[in-house]
Amino acid sequence: MTEREFATDVVKRLATKGYQALWAGGCVRDQLLGLEPDDYDVATNALPTEVVKLFPRTVTVGISFGVVEVIGPKQSDGTHLNVQVATFRSDGEYHDGRRPSTVQFSDAKEDALRRDFTINGMFFDPLENAVLDFVGGQQDLSNRVLRAIGNPEDRFEEDKLRLLRAIRFTHRFGCSVDPGTIAAMTKMAPHLNVVSTERIAVELRKILAHPSRAAAVAQMIELGLVQVIIPQLFPMKDRDATLQVLQTIGRGASVSFGLAMAVLLHALHPKNVEKLLRQLKLSNAEIDQITWLVTRQDSLRGAATQPNHQLFPILVHPHIVELCEWTLTSGGASDAEYCEELLASHTSDFFQPVPLVTGDDLRAWGYQPGKIFKKILDQVRDMQLDWQLQTTDEAKEYILATFGPPQK
Ligand code: ATP
Ligand code: MG
Repeated sequence: MTEREFATDVVKRLATKGYQALWAGGCVRDQLLGLEPDDYDVATNALPTEVVKLFPRTVTVGISFGVVEVIGPKQSDGTHLNVQVATFRSDGEYHDGRRPSTVQFSDAKEDALRRDFTINGMFFDPLENAVLDFVGGQQDLSNRVLRAIGNPEDRFEEDKLRLLRAIRFTHRFGCSVDPGTIAAMTKMAPHLNVVSTERIAVELRKILAHPSRAAAVAQMIELGLVQVIIPQLFPMKDRDATLQVLQTIGRGASVSFGLAMAVLLHALHPKNVEKLLRQLKLSNAEIDQITWLVTRQDSLRGAATQPNHQLFPILVHPHIVELCEWTLTSGGASDAEYCEELLASHTSDFFQPVPLVTGDDLRAWGYQPGKIFKKILDQVRDMQLDWQLQTTDEAKEYILATFGPPQK
């Protein structure tokens, strides 16, 4: 069973019991664009307590918001199909710029009006194969216009995260922003700072990974949104060059969020990068990735003439592919190609061979553990990687000659 079939079954089940049930929001938009929706959301006039009774397996996600997750059959990958079923509602006032303080269960039209943008505000009845459009979403979608539903200023005032959502949908679908909507965004941009860093990060990840990232960031700078999220970048001396690299990385495809973020932050000192990423509450894995990329951004330059001991440790790093992509698309094509060729023609133990000498060896040879250990091991390792030492015997001889015999 596909996600789509299951989402149709859920609607059928609700309809059989006399409820109105419709696909809602992003899945309707995606389908009208001829795209495969990521997931399906169902909106219904059944109350959450009624939804829970109609399906054997449910999880109440946000009972006060009327959201119930209906769990479906297991798929081949072990996960279960699932559809979020939300009761039609209109949102009360927003107090914290984040979520409405109250919700009122209502009808399909009211539920459309609480949504953010017209292209996200449509319903689809899979049983009748009909679109229900209370907000002019179909027309805006075919004209590729991003337009806030209702009064744009009020809508961005209610939830400032919509500023970033607007950017994301605009560029993902190649839209232009309706003049009233862009005016409201310009006015509201300085207030993005009331949104939690976690919610900002969720949007940033999607905006930066997508091939349209450069145009999106350019617009975010124009509106002053990047200035709110990453004030450390301003004044931004190399804006055009940065946008150019953002545009080129991935060569038309998606890239990891980490690579795009590293490009955006490349001019900051690595220490400040880490501090900033912690403030944004990114994951440790993301922080490691981004700081490594920023720190190493120029380390493949002149790769062909670098000693092995300098180049090889970089080539075995988990994010080398992204570093190659960055180098390739920022003027280092021959360096990146050289590294890619090396990587393609050797396995990792070529770059990271078993050490000729370990601390245990030194101890067995009578050397006393201490500062000198690291110095010996590092030097022997470099020479091993540079193919100046080939065997443990050779290394031992070298150590004796250079560092002298063990102190008795
Ligand atoms: P995506 O494909 O990126 O998931 P989506 O449109 O499905 O896009 P979601 O964040 O999954 O976006 O939200 C589902 C729907 O809920 C949206 O289409 C929109 O109608 C509504 N929605 C979500 N977030 C908001 C918000 N902050 N304000 C108003 N409506 C929202
Ligand atoms: Mg969605």
